[in-house]
Amino acid sequence: MAKLTILCQLNKGCMGCCGHDFDSVERIKEAIKLNIQEFELVNGNDEQGLLGFRDRADAYDLRFGVCRNLIESDRKLFCPLHPALHQGKDLREGHCEIDHLCRTAKEFANWSPEKQKQFLRFISEKNLDSVEYSLQMDNNQLLEEFLKRTW
Ligand code: SF4
Repeated sequence: MAKLTILCQLNKGCMGCCGHDFDSVERIKEAIKLNIQEFELVNGNDEQGLLGFRDRADAYDLRFGVCRNLIESDRKLFCPLHPALHQGKDLREGHCEIDHLCRTAKEFANWSPEKQKQFLRFISEKNLDSVEYSLQMDNNQLLEEFLKRTW
């Protein structure tokens, strides 16, 4: 969940930037479940509650490679500190690398609209769940496969 590019919103949210050296898909899902349990203990509607949630662990104290702030609701992955949820105020500031973009997102931004559409179609046909999608964005698998096939 980096800056905004449409790629971060696909497949019910990408968490490729929300950690590194990820463990297995099962462990990632377990980490998110534990994060949700901890999030339920704070007042998520209150800034102080959110900051307390954020600061309960260091930004680089990951769980199976996953950021401890990453949660899920209605089967969508998201960061409760993201500015899209706080009228533009970014509660991640000073905590994680909010300007990071993956290689795929950077290359995608420079493609023609036609090539971008092809990539979006390519992703949609893969029918990946959010965690599989995130891992394949983070390790450039989708990008490399797409580039080999089409251009
Ligand atoms: S890995 Fe790429 S697509 Fe996924 S959240 Fe980060 S910048 Fe967005």
